[in-house]
Amino acid sequence: MNLYKLKVIDYFGESILEQIISRCGNICSECPWSMFMRKKIAKEDWEYYAKEIKSYTGYKPVKYEWEGCLGCLTPTEEFPSHPFYNFLKKCRTRKCAGYNEVPNCAYCGRFPCANTVARNDYTQEKVSEKLGKEISDDEYERYVRMFDGMGNLKKIRSGLSPTQIKNPKLVSHEPEITELTGAFENDNFKLVYEKLVEIANSNLGIKGVDTISGFELYKERKEFLWRFLWIIGLYGKIENDELSIDSATLYENRKPLSLPKNEEEWKVFLNILLEFGIITELEIKTDKLYTPGGYMRAKIPKSNEPAYNLKIKTSSGLQKYPIFKILNELITKLLEDSGKRAFSNFKKLNFNSILQ
Ligand code: SF4
Ligand code: SF4
Repeated sequence: MNLYKLKVIDYFGESILEQIISRCGNICSECPWSMFMRKKIAKEDWEYYAKEIKSYTGYKPVKYEWEGCLGCLTPTEEFPSHPFYNFLKKCRTRKCAGYNEVPNCAYCGRFPCANTVARNDYTQEKVSEKLGKEISDDEYERYVRMFDGMGNLKKIRSGLSPTQIKNPKLVSHEPEITELTGAFENDNFKLVYEKLVEIANSNLGIKGVDTISGFELYKERKEFLWRFLWIIGLYGKIENDELSIDSATLYENRKPLSLPKNEEEWKVFLNILLEFGIITELEIKTDKLYTPGGYMRAKIPKSNEPAYNLKIKTSSGLQKYPIFKILNELITKLLEDSGKRAFSNFKKLNFNSILQ
């Protein structure tokens, strides 16, 4: 196992501790999911400790019997085969910092970049606000600080000299747009095609798509956006100039992707579409929208009714065209002509099978 051990100054700057820091600033050597804490805490104390962690973070650590996470600095090929590691393998911050050969994002010239998964969600202030009571420095140290990724990275950064900071290696990306080998049978198809090309040529609202983390985020957004356009094109209900789609239909047709987990994540996608004249309103249908884990439900509990609807219309410049009807016809035709390959063709804007 090849773990980087970093010496960092602790939160109060009083002592030097040897800690293992994840790429995004979490403290793996104090993380309740890690093998390190399983060595520090006795089996009989684990249940109490796990409950304490849950009361501060909202998540209960995996049971003591599991060997524990090896930490994200472990090379991927050394990860045991266990589903827990899937999210570490996919983590774009881990990929980016690894590719750039920096121990963590604090050592990167782009820090704090917009694409890291490091967040400011576990600060002393935010956890106090969430719990509705002031948490002490001691509680923060014991139960929260290991997840205060951004706070930890800033602390590390403040102790670095300019020579320790390295600029990321840049990557370039080309949008995947297939060259057309003929002409569309009508101008309406051409109009929608050109709109799709505009979307495909954009950075999808990402600042810094030239780094690995930016590019990974671009790929994630692109996958979801194209799946979303496909679903609304096929299953959306069109009335006058508006299209509506409910969360149950989105959920049933989303695979292999997940739906955005909260309203904030939806807004990210809806704002990208807004740039292209597609205006969407999120209509919440229940006061039980969220699961206790903080995920948006697709269906109202104990019913098959959708938990929310998306109501979509176009901006004034596009209103003279029945965009949604044309999108539906275009996708239906693609499906008829390229069968199982239809969605993968749609993602690459490969409409050659339906051209004249
Ligand atoms: S879950 Fe994250 S913070 Fe915890 S040990 Fe694994 S990589 Fe480190
Ligand atoms: S570009 Fe962003 S994610 Fe990548 S190493 Fe730098 S700060 Fe971290």
